[in-house]
Amino acid sequence: MEITHCRYHPAQPATWHCSPCQRDYGDCCVPLNADAPELEPTCPLCAGKLRFLGAANTAQPFWQRIPTFFRYGLQAGPLAFAAALCLASLFMPAWKLLWLALFCVATKYLQSVIENSSQGVREAPRLTEAFDGEGFSLFWRLLVIFFVSFAVVWLAADFDSEALFWAATLGVQLLIPASIIRLALDKTLGAALSPDEVGAVIKAMGWRYLILWAFLFILWQSPGVVVYMLASGLPKVVLMPIAALLFGYFSVVMCAMMGYAVFQYQGALGYVAVDDEEPRGYPGEEYRRRRALADAEVRLKEGQSAQALEVLAKALDVAPNDLKLNERFHQLLFGLNARERCLRHLAHYLPLAARLNPAQAVFALLNARQLQANYLPEDAQVCERVAEALLERHKTREGLSMLRNLHQRFPDYPHIPRAYLLAAHGFAEGLGQVEPAQKLLTFIRIRYPQSPLLDEVARLEATLAKLA
Ligand SMILES: [Zn+2]
Ligand SMILES: [Zn+2]
Repeated sequence: MEITHCRYHPAQPATWHCSPCQRDYGDCCVPLNADAPELEPTCPLCAGKLRFLGAANTAQPFWQRIPTFFRYGLQAGPLAFAAALCLASLFMPAWKLLWLALFCVATKYLQSVIENSSQGVREAPRLTEAFDGEGFSLFWRLLVIFFVSFAVVWLAADFDSEALFWAATLGVQLLIPASIIRLALDKTLGAALSPDEVGAVIKAMGWRYLILWAFLFILWQSPGVVVYMLASGLPKVVLMPIAALLFGYFSVVMCAMMGYAVFQYQGALGYVAVDDEEPRGYPGEEYRRRRALADAEVRLKEGQSAQALEVLAKALDVAPNDLKLNERFHQLLFGLNARERCLRHLAHYLPLAARLNPAQAVFALLNARQLQANYLPEDAQVCERVAEALLERHKTREGLSMLRNLHQRFPDYPHIPRAYLLAAHGFAEGLGQVEPAQKLLTFIRIRYPQSPLLDEVARLEATLAKLA
C-alpha cells in the first residue's frame, strides 16, 4: 500500500480526505480544536465533513519498531502472563479441564494484545482482563484454525508427492499469521478461514507481509532454541518453567507485532485508528490562528487569492492583534500588489510589529517604501522604534528618514531628544557624516536643556570633535 500525502504539503502524510473535492489533507492543513474536540473538522475548500484516515499514512513501519515490541513484552501485564505460564508448568496438577482453562485464558490474553496493538494502544492489557467468558470461544476457534491447517498438510501428505507436501506446509505456515490477525479483528471463524478475508490482510501489506512472517518465524523458534541450548545438563524440572516463561514472553512480542502491522496497514484493511501518543488539537486561540493560516494557504495554492484574503480578514476581525495573522495578511497583500489595501493595513500592522517584533517591522517598512517611496508611520514612537531597528540592521538612510523633522511632525512627542540622539549616532556611525550629527546634538542642547540625556550628548560631542 502506498502512503498518500497532503495535497499542499508533499512531505506531510495525509490524515483527512474530502470526497467531493478529491483532496487529501495532512494535519498541517487541518488543525484540531482541543477546546472543542467534539467539533468535526471541515474541508478548507468546501467546508464539508472530512473523512478521517487515521494513522494509516503516519504510522511508522513495523520493521522499524522491533525494539518497541520487545519492550512491550516487558510491561506488567505480559510479565504476569509469562509468570503465570511458568508457575502453571511447575505446580499445576495434570487435570485436563484445568489445562484447558489455562489455554483459554492464554488465548484470550494474546488476542487482546493483538487487538490493543491494532488500535495503536501502547500499553499492554492487564492479565485480569483475560479472565472472562470470551476466552473459551476464542480458544476453540483458534483450535479449529490449527486443526484445518493440520488437515490440509495431512491431506497433502496423502498424495505421495513431496513437492505438494512442502507446498502445502509452506502455504499453511504463511497463511496462519494472517488468519490469526483476522480472528483477532473480526472474532469470527468465518473471517479467519475465508480465503478472501485472509487474502485481504496479505494484500493490504503486500510483500511486507513476508517481512512480518519472517520476524514471526524467528520469534516462534526463539524459545525452542534457547531451551535447546540450555538443555545440556539442566534437569527437566528447571527446563520446563524456563520454556514456559520464554514461550509466554515471545508470544506477547509476536502478537504485539501482528497487531501493530494491522495498525500500520489500517487504511488498506478498512480500519481507522489513531496513535495514542500523538498530540491532538490546539487550545482555542492557537487553533483559530492555525486554522486561518492553513485555510488561507490552501486557498492561495488553489489560486483563490481573494478567498485567502477573506479568510485572514475574518480571523483578524476576531483577533486583530495577532502578530502571525497580521504578518501573513501583510505578505499576501504585498505579494498580490494590493497597494491601497496593503498601505491601509500597514497603519495597523506596523505599530504592532514595531512593538512585538522589530525585525518584522523592518521588513514591513521596506515593503511599504516599495509601494509608496515616502511612506512614514503616523506615530512618533513607531517611527523611533522602526528607525532603531533599521539602524541596527545597517539600513541607515531608511532609518534616518524615519526621524527626519520628528519635532515638527510630532511637536508633542516627549522623546525627541532620545530620537535625535539616535539619529546623531546614525549619521556619525552609519554614514560617517559628522556635521549633521553635531547639528542634531546642538539642537537637543538648546531646545531641551532639562533632558537627562545631556551627559550622553556631551560624550558623543566629544567623540565627534576628535573625529572632526
Ligand atoms: Zn498540508
Ligand atoms: Zn471539500
